[in-house]
Amino acid sequence: MQTEKIVIIGGGQAALSVAWYLMRAGLPFVILDDNEMPGGAWLHGWESLRLFSPASYSSLPGWLMPPSVSEGFPTRNEVVTYLTAYEKRYGFNIQRPVKVRTVERAGDGFRVVTDKGEWQSEAVISATGTWSNPYIPDIPGRDLFEGEQVHSADYNRPDRFMGKTVLVVGGGNSGAQIHAELSEVCNSTWVTQTPPGFLPDDVDGRVLFERATAIAQGKSEASAYSFANIVMVPPVRAARDRGVLHSRPSFKAMTRTGVIWADGTETQVDAVVWCTGFRPALAHLANLGVIEKDGKVAVDAIGRSLKAPRLWLLGYGDWTGFASATLIGGARAARDTARSIQAEFGERV
Ligand code: FAD
Repeated sequence: MQTEKIVIIGGGQAALSVAWYLMRAGLPFVILDDNEMPGGAWLHGWESLRLFSPASYSSLPGWLMPPSVSEGFPTRNEVVTYLTAYEKRYGFNIQRPVKVRTVERAGDGFRVVTDKGEWQSEAVISATGTWSNPYIPDIPGRDLFEGEQVHSADYNRPDRFMGKTVLVVGGGNSGAQIHAELSEVCNSTWVTQTPPGFLPDDVDGRVLFERATAIAQGKSEASAYSFANIVMVPPVRAARDRGVLHSRPSFKAMTRTGVIWADGTETQVDAVVWCTGFRPALAHLANLGVIEKDGKVAVDAIGRSLKAPRLWLLGYGDWTGFASATLIGGARAARDTARSIQAEFGERV
């Protein structure tokens, strides 16, 4: 059994952000990450995935992300390169690959059980993201379908769908981007529950974040722009200009060879790409009895568990800090997490 004051579970952008603040505060920690390499979820995104914002709006604390060398906003690989260099620069104690199987109460702290041994800690920060817990809706007949089904979490590039008939399901950015690139190589139909909303061409993550921050700080009324609407990144704009950026409402069931639409008509399809989102990856916390019916943990305003007060959650979305699933929002949330931990242990920055 190893001992460390704070165990951070997960080694993505959220973990690195809070690690920086803990390092600055002189609080000892270890990061346990089940990936083979640095980069968190960005290691698994599809090849053409880019940030919605320029590098200057996508930085972790202490060190700006270098500007993108390719045209446009930083690529997935540039984000991975930045995260890799970041953790090396600060020399964080990161153990990889280490999968945390379960966290249990032990005295005032925790016993963190992994596939590489156990850690005893006074506090735990869970920063495991959502990428490893993809969500697919329970559509009748889904198990019968003999074609290919892939979630966006495992989608990589369009080539393997070349010439096929494909349904892309999901009205968010993933669905729009994957449909946009598939529509160039195959017969792709975009399927959404409700008609998708699009942001103006000149509104990117930078504008969204500034507006949302102003609203959160009470400096602005409700914004016309929503994070729920689709950002018109170049491939999506190009699909619109080719006249293929339109969707049809969801199907009601699947068959061995295709889908049945609400009006009872059937379409034969080769593959379905589920761009239907993710749920927080929290299975390792199940034994603590903190996971609620909605699959989340009840937390205070900065993501501290109400039922296990030395457990903090970071990076899962607005419920663990405003915009905390983004690089810039996660960095702010991480500062609050670190302050809360310092207050708990009676130490100052
Ligand atoms: P992750 O990056 O998922 O890191 C969590 C780490 O924990 C992973 O390494 C995982 O393997 C590990 N882990 C999980 N379970 C365990 C366990 N039990 N034990 C040990 N390790 C574990 N964000 C932006 O900031 N800007 C953008 O423009 C942007 N665009 C996006 C576009 C799309 C289409 C999508 C889908 C996402 C986008 N995001 C963007 C969001 C971003 O990709 C993720 O929200 C972000 O990576 C979450 O960071 P994280 O550190 O919380 O989690």
